Amino acid sequence: MATIIDGKLISENIKTEIAISVKGLLDKGLRAPHLAAVIAGDDGAALSYVSSIEKQCKGVGFISSVYHLSANTTEEEFLSTIDFLNRDEEIDGYIIQMPLPKHISVDKVTAHVAPEKDMDCFHPMNMGNLLLGKDCYLPATPHGVIELIQRSNIETKGKNCVIVGRSNIVGKPLAMLMLQKSINATVTVCHSHTQNLKKVCQRADILIVAIGQPEMITADYVKEGATVIDVGIHRLEAPELPKGYRLCGDVLFDEVSKKCGAITPTPGGTGSMTTACLLQNTLKARLLKINE
Ligand code: NDP
Repeated sequence: MATIIDGKLISENIKTEIAISVKGLLDKGLRAPHLAAVIAGDDGAALSYVSSIEKQCKGVGFISSVYHLSANTTEEEFLSTIDFLNRDEEIDGYIIQMPLPKHISVDKVTAHVAPEKDMDCFHPMNMGNLLLGKDCYLPATPHGVIELIQRSNIETKGKNCVIVGRSNIVGKPLAMLMLQKSINATVTVCHSHTQNLKKVCQRADILIVAIGQPEMITADYVKEGATVIDVGIHRLEAPELPKGYRLCGDVLFDEVSKKCGAITPTPGGTGSMTTACLLQNTLKARLLKINE
Protein backbone atom coordinates (compact mmCIF):
# COMPACT_ATOMS: atom_id res chain seq x y z
CA MET A 1 0.00 0.00 0.00
CA ALA A 2 1.30 3.43 -0.94
CA THR A 3 2.15 6.25 1.45
CA ILE A 4 -0.82 8.59 1.61
CA ILE A 5 0.17 12.21 1.05
CA ASP A 6 -1.99 13.99 3.59
CA GLY A 7 -2.97 17.28 1.98
CA LYS A 8 -5.25 18.18 4.85
CA LEU A 9 -2.43 17.92 7.39
CA ILE A 10 0.11 19.72 5.16
CA SER A 11 -2.35 22.54 4.47
CA GLU A 12 -3.04 22.86 8.22
CA ASN A 13 0.72 23.15 8.81
CA ILE A 14 0.96 25.92 6.19
CA LYS A 15 -1.97 27.76 7.76
CA THR A 16 -0.36 27.49 11.19
CA GLU A 17 2.83 29.06 9.76
CA ILE A 18 0.73 31.85 8.23
CA ALA A 19 -1.15 32.46 11.51
CA ILE A 20 2.18 32.79 13.35
CA SER A 21 3.37 35.41 10.82
CA VAL A 22 0.08 37.31 11.17
CA LYS A 23 0.46 37.33 14.94
CA GLY A 24 3.96 38.73 14.44
CA LEU A 25 2.53 41.59 12.38
CA LEU A 26 -0.22 42.34 14.89
CA ASP A 27 2.28 42.28 17.77
CA LYS A 28 4.21 45.01 15.94
CA GLY A 29 1.02 47.06 15.62
CA LEU A 30 0.71 46.38 11.89
CA ARG A 31 -2.50 45.58 10.05
CA ALA A 32 -3.31 41.94 9.23
CA PRO A 33 -3.30 40.89 5.56
CA HIS A 34 -6.57 41.59 3.75
CA LEU A 35 -7.84 39.28 0.99
CA ALA A 36 -10.89 40.22 -1.08
CA ALA A 37 -12.95 38.12 -3.49
CA VAL A 38 -15.11 39.33 -6.34
CA ILE A 39 -17.98 37.19 -7.50
CA ALA A 40 -20.72 37.88 -10.04
CA GLY A 41 -23.88 35.80 -10.00
CA ASP A 42 -25.08 33.01 -7.77
CA ASP A 43 -23.24 29.88 -8.88
CA GLY A 44 -23.57 27.55 -5.86
CA ALA A 45 -20.07 26.03 -6.06
CA ALA A 46 -18.46 29.47 -6.52
CA LEU A 47 -20.37 30.92 -3.55
CA SER A 48 -19.43 28.02 -1.32
CA TYR A 49 -15.74 28.30 -2.35
CA VAL A 50 -15.75 32.01 -1.52
CA SER A 51 -17.42 31.40 1.83
CA SER A 52 -14.81 28.72 2.63
CA ILE A 53 -12.07 31.25 1.79
CA GLU A 54 -13.66 33.76 4.19
CA LYS A 55 -13.71 31.13 6.93
CA GLN A 56 -10.09 30.19 6.37
CA CYS A 57 -9.04 33.86 6.30
CA LYS A 58 -10.61 34.23 9.73
CA GLY A 59 -8.79 31.10 10.92
CA VAL A 60 -5.35 32.58 10.18
CA GLY A 61 -6.21 36.09 11.37
CA PHE A 62 -6.66 37.74 7.94
CA ILE A 63 -9.23 40.38 7.12
CA SER A 64 -11.48 39.30 4.26
CA SER A 65 -14.18 40.92 2.19
CA VAL A 66 -16.46 39.77 -0.59
CA TYR A 67 -17.72 41.93 -3.46
CA HIS A 68 -20.82 40.07 -4.59
CA LEU A 69 -22.15 41.54 -7.83
CA SER A 70 -25.29 40.51 -9.66
CA ALA A 71 -25.17 38.21 -12.70
CA ASN A 72 -26.49 41.21 -14.71
CA THR A 73 -23.57 43.48 -13.77
CA THR A 74 -22.19 45.09 -16.91
CA GLU A 75 -18.57 44.60 -17.91
CA GLU A 76 -17.99 48.29 -17.23
CA GLU A 77 -19.35 47.99 -13.67
CA PHE A 78 -17.27 44.87 -13.10
CA LEU A 79 -14.11 46.62 -14.29
CA SER A 80 -14.83 49.62 -12.09
CA THR A 81 -15.01 47.29 -9.06
CA ILE A 82 -11.58 46.01 -10.10
CA ASP A 83 -10.33 49.62 -10.36
CA PHE A 84 -11.58 50.24 -6.82
CA LEU A 85 -9.79 47.13 -5.48
CA ASN A 86 -6.60 48.10 -7.32
CA ARG A 87 -6.62 51.52 -5.64
CA ASP A 88 -7.68 50.52 -2.12
CA GLU A 89 -4.56 50.59 0.08
CA GLU A 90 -6.31 48.50 2.73
CA ILE A 91 -6.70 45.51 0.40
CA ASP A 92 -3.49 43.55 -0.20
CA GLY A 93 -4.82 41.21 -2.84
CA TYR A 94 -7.95 39.73 -4.33
CA ILE A 95 -9.30 36.91 -6.42
CA ILE A 96 -11.90 36.91 -9.14
CA GLN A 97 -14.16 33.94 -8.72
CA MET A 98 -14.96 32.04 -11.90
CA PRO A 99 -17.16 31.49 -13.76
CA LEU A 100 -17.90 35.06 -14.86
CA PRO A 101 -21.22 35.81 -16.58
CA LYS A 102 -20.81 35.21 -20.33
CA HIS A 103 -21.02 38.90 -21.29
CA ILE A 104 -17.91 39.72 -19.21
CA SER A 105 -14.58 39.00 -20.90
CA VAL A 106 -12.28 36.90 -18.70
CA ASP A 107 -9.22 38.14 -20.64
CA LYS A 108 -10.19 41.79 -20.19
CA VAL A 109 -10.83 41.33 -16.48
CA THR A 110 -7.61 39.37 -15.90
CA ALA A 111 -5.51 42.02 -17.64
CA HIS A 112 -7.23 44.73 -15.55
CA VAL A 113 -6.12 43.27 -12.21
CA ALA A 114 -3.09 45.09 -10.72
CA PRO A 115 -0.32 42.45 -10.94
CA GLU A 116 0.74 43.12 -7.34
CA LYS A 117 -2.79 42.29 -6.14
CA ASP A 118 -3.29 39.27 -8.42
CA MET A 119 -3.55 36.49 -5.83
CA ASP A 120 -4.57 33.92 -8.46
CA CYS A 121 -1.46 34.68 -10.57
CA PHE A 122 -3.60 34.87 -13.72
CA HIS A 123 -2.31 38.26 -14.94
CA PRO A 124 -0.08 37.89 -18.05
CA MET A 125 2.78 39.64 -16.21
CA ASN A 126 2.68 37.17 -13.31
CA MET A 127 2.37 34.23 -15.73
CA GLY A 128 5.38 35.64 -17.60
CA ASN A 129 7.41 35.95 -14.40
CA LEU A 130 6.52 32.36 -13.56
CA LEU A 131 7.75 31.25 -16.98
CA LEU A 132 11.00 33.18 -16.47
CA GLY A 133 11.52 31.62 -13.03
CA LYS A 134 11.40 35.03 -11.30
CA ASP A 135 10.12 35.56 -7.78
CA CYS A 136 6.37 36.06 -8.16
CA TYR A 137 3.02 35.00 -6.78
CA LEU A 138 2.43 31.37 -7.63
CA PRO A 139 -0.90 30.05 -8.90
CA ALA A 140 -2.54 28.37 -5.93
CA THR A 141 -3.38 24.89 -7.20
CA PRO A 142 -0.03 24.22 -8.95
CA HIS A 143 1.82 25.70 -5.98
CA GLY A 144 -0.17 23.40 -3.69
CA VAL A 145 1.06 20.42 -5.69
CA ILE A 146 4.68 21.57 -5.33
CA GLU A 147 4.23 22.06 -1.57
CA LEU A 148 2.78 18.54 -1.26
CA ILE A 149 5.74 17.05 -3.13
CA GLN A 150 8.40 19.03 -1.28
CA ARG A 151 6.93 18.71 2.21
CA SER A 152 6.61 14.94 1.65
CA ASN A 153 10.34 14.81 0.82
CA ILE A 154 9.72 13.32 -2.61
CA GLU A 155 12.87 13.54 -4.74
CA THR A 156 12.29 15.58 -7.92
CA LYS A 157 15.82 16.21 -9.22
CA GLY A 158 16.30 14.41 -12.54
CA LYS A 159 13.01 12.53 -12.13
CA ASN A 160 10.55 12.00 -14.98
CA CYS A 161 7.45 14.02 -14.25
CA VAL A 162 4.43 13.47 -16.48
CA ILE A 163 1.61 16.01 -16.18
CA VAL A 164 -1.70 14.99 -17.77
CA GLY A 165 -3.67 18.16 -18.59
CA ARG A 166 -2.52 21.49 -20.05
CA SER A 167 -5.02 24.03 -18.72
CA ASN A 168 -3.84 27.56 -17.97
CA ILE A 169 -4.76 27.21 -14.31
CA VAL A 170 -3.25 23.80 -13.56
CA GLY A 171 -1.26 21.84 -16.17
CA LYS A 172 0.78 24.61 -17.87
CA PRO A 173 1.88 26.54 -14.76
CA LEU A 174 2.63 23.25 -13.01
CA ALA A 175 4.91 22.28 -15.88
CA MET A 176 6.76 25.60 -15.45
CA LEU A 177 7.14 25.00 -11.71
CA MET A 178 8.40 21.43 -12.10
CA LEU A 179 11.02 22.77 -14.56
CA GLN A 180 12.38 25.39 -12.14
CA LYS A 181 15.97 24.95 -11.08
CA SER A 182 14.92 24.37 -7.48
CA ILE A 183 12.93 21.31 -8.64
CA ASN A 184 14.85 20.07 -11.70
CA ALA A 185 12.38 17.49 -12.96
CA THR A 186 12.28 16.37 -16.59
CA VAL A 187 8.76 17.30 -17.61
CA THR A 188 6.33 15.86 -20.17
CA VAL A 189 2.91 17.46 -20.61
CA CYS A 190 0.05 15.41 -22.08
CA HIS A 191 -3.40 16.37 -23.33
CA SER A 192 -6.35 14.93 -25.21
CA HIS A 193 -4.33 14.52 -28.42
CA THR A 194 -1.39 12.71 -26.81
CA GLN A 195 -0.70 9.38 -28.48
CA ASN A 196 -0.21 6.30 -26.30
CA LEU A 197 -1.07 8.19 -23.11
CA LYS A 198 -0.81 5.03 -21.03
CA LYS A 199 2.73 4.36 -22.23
CA VAL A 200 3.81 7.96 -21.56
CA CYS A 201 2.34 7.84 -18.05
CA GLN A 202 4.10 4.54 -17.33
CA ARG A 203 7.45 6.38 -17.66
CA ALA A 204 6.59 8.78 -14.84
CA ASP A 205 8.39 8.78 -11.52
CA ILE A 206 5.95 11.54 -10.61
CA LEU A 207 2.56 11.43 -12.31
CA ILE A 208 0.34 14.50 -11.89
CA VAL A 209 -3.19 14.25 -13.23
CA ALA A 210 -5.49 17.22 -13.93
CA ILE A 211 -7.88 16.15 -16.67
CA GLY A 212 -11.35 16.45 -15.20
CA GLN A 213 -12.19 12.79 -16.03
CA PRO A 214 -13.41 10.86 -12.97
CA GLU A 215 -11.15 7.91 -12.10
CA MET A 216 -9.78 7.60 -15.64
CA ILE A 217 -6.22 6.85 -14.52
CA THR A 218 -6.13 3.19 -13.55
CA ALA A 219 -3.22 1.10 -12.23
CA ASP A 220 -2.04 0.19 -15.73
CA TYR A 221 -1.09 3.86 -16.35
CA VAL A 222 1.22 3.87 -13.34
CA LYS A 223 4.77 2.65 -12.82
CA GLU A 224 5.38 0.56 -9.71
CA GLY A 225 6.55 2.84 -6.87
CA ALA A 226 5.70 6.14 -8.65
CA THR A 227 4.33 9.20 -6.86
CA VAL A 228 0.80 10.03 -8.03
CA ILE A 229 -0.72 13.47 -7.47
CA ASP A 230 -4.42 13.71 -8.30
CA VAL A 231 -5.70 17.24 -8.90
CA GLY A 232 -9.14 16.18 -10.14
CA ILE A 233 -12.18 16.66 -7.95
CA HIS A 234 -15.59 15.21 -8.85
CA ARG A 235 -18.86 14.72 -7.04
CA LEU A 236 -20.48 11.52 -8.27
CA GLU A 237 -24.01 10.43 -7.46
CA ALA A 238 -24.11 7.49 -5.05
CA PRO A 239 -27.70 6.87 -3.94
CA GLU A 240 -26.53 3.93 -1.80
CA LEU A 241 -24.57 6.31 0.48
CA PRO A 242 -26.26 8.37 3.24
CA LYS A 243 -25.04 11.63 1.60
CA GLY A 244 -26.24 10.50 -1.84
CA TYR A 245 -22.90 11.27 -3.44
CA ARG A 246 -19.19 10.56 -3.17
CA LEU A 247 -16.10 12.61 -4.04
CA CYS A 248 -13.37 11.20 -6.24
CA GLY A 249 -10.43 12.34 -8.33
CA ASP A 250 -9.14 11.70 -11.84
CA VAL A 251 -7.26 8.67 -10.49
CA LEU A 252 -8.86 5.35 -9.50
CA PHE A 253 -7.49 5.56 -5.97
CA ASP A 254 -8.28 2.06 -4.65
CA GLU A 255 -6.49 0.39 -7.55
CA VAL A 256 -3.58 2.80 -8.07
CA SER A 257 -2.74 3.09 -4.36
CA LYS A 258 -1.88 -0.64 -4.34
CA LYS A 259 0.79 -0.14 -7.00
CA CYS A 260 2.33 3.33 -6.57
CA GLY A 261 4.75 4.51 -3.88
CA ALA A 262 2.87 7.60 -2.69
CA ILE A 263 -0.50 9.09 -3.62
CA THR A 264 -2.83 11.96 -2.77
CA PRO A 265 -6.38 10.93 -1.79
CA THR A 266 -9.52 12.77 -2.91
CA PRO A 267 -10.81 14.36 -0.77
CA GLY A 268 -7.92 15.25 1.55
CA GLY A 269 -5.23 15.70 -1.10
CA THR A 270 -4.68 18.62 -3.46
CA GLY A 271 -8.04 20.30 -2.78
CA SER A 272 -7.12 21.36 0.75
CA MET A 273 -3.89 22.93 -0.52
CA THR A 274 -5.35 25.49 -2.93
CA THR A 275 -6.73 27.85 -0.29
CA ALA A 276 -3.63 27.47 1.90
CA CYS A 277 -1.48 28.63 -1.03
CA LEU A 278 -3.86 31.49 -1.78
CA LEU A 279 -3.39 32.65 1.81
CA GLN A 280 0.39 32.33 1.35
CA ASN A 281 0.19 34.72 -1.63
CA THR A 282 -1.82 37.22 0.40
CA LEU A 283 0.71 37.15 3.24
CA LYS A 284 3.47 37.67 0.68
CA ALA A 285 1.59 40.68 -0.79
CA ARG A 286 1.22 42.19 2.69
CA LEU A 287 4.90 41.68 3.54
CA LEU A 288 5.98 43.17 0.19
CA LYS A 289 3.89 46.26 0.94
CA ILE A 290 5.30 46.60 4.45
CA ASN A 291 8.86 46.33 3.09
CA GLU A 292 8.31 48.75 0.18
P1 NDP B 1 -9.62 21.72 -17.97
O1 NDP B 1 -10.88 21.07 -18.45
O2 NDP B 1 -9.44 23.17 -18.17
O3 NDP B 1 -8.38 20.97 -18.64
C1 NDP B 1 -8.35 19.57 -18.73
C2 NDP B 1 -7.08 19.16 -19.44
O4 NDP B 1 -7.06 17.74 -19.50
C3 NDP B 1 -7.01 19.65 -20.89
O5 NDP B 1 -5.69 20.02 -21.19
C4 NDP B 1 -7.43 18.41 -21.71
O6 NDP B 1 -6.79 18.32 -22.98
C5 NDP B 1 -6.91 17.30 -20.82
N1 NDP B 1 -7.70 16.08 -21.00
C6 NDP B 1 -9.04 15.94 -20.86
N2 NDP B 1 -9.40 14.67 -21.11
C7 NDP B 1 -8.26 13.99 -21.41
C8 NDP B 1 -7.97 12.65 -21.76
N3 NDP B 1 -8.94 11.73 -21.87
N4 NDP B 1 -6.69 12.32 -22.01
C9 NDP B 1 -5.71 13.24 -21.91
N5 NDP B 1 -5.92 14.52 -21.59
C10 NDP B 1 -7.19 14.89 -21.33
O7 NDP B 1 -9.51 21.30 -16.43
P2 NDP B 1 -8.70 22.01 -15.20
O8 NDP B 1 -7.25 21.96 -15.46
O9 NDP B 1 -9.35 23.27 -14.85
O10 NDP B 1 -9.08 20.96 -14.05
C11 NDP B 1 -8.70 19.60 -14.10
C12 NDP B 1 -9.28 18.88 -12.89
O11 NDP B 1 -8.73 19.47 -11.71
C13 NDP B 1 -10.80 19.01 -12.73
O12 NDP B 1 -11.29 17.81 -12.16
C14 NDP B 1 -10.98 20.15 -11.74
O13 NDP B 1 -12.18 20.03 -11.00
C15 NDP B 1 -9.78 19.92 -10.86
N6 NDP B 1 -9.29 21.16 -10.20
C16 NDP B 1 -8.95 21.04 -8.88
C17 NDP B 1 -8.45 22.13 -8.21
C18 NDP B 1 -8.01 21.95 -6.80
O14 NDP B 1 -8.07 22.89 -6.02
N7 NDP B 1 -7.50 20.78 -6.44
C19 NDP B 1 -8.38 23.46 -8.84
C20 NDP B 1 -8.64 23.45 -10.25
C21 NDP B 1 -9.12 22.32 -10.89
P3 NDP B 1 -7.02 19.42 -24.15
O15 NDP B 1 -6.23 20.62 -23.75
O16 NDP B 1 -6.48 18.75 -25.36
O17 NDP B 1 -8.50 19.66 -24.19
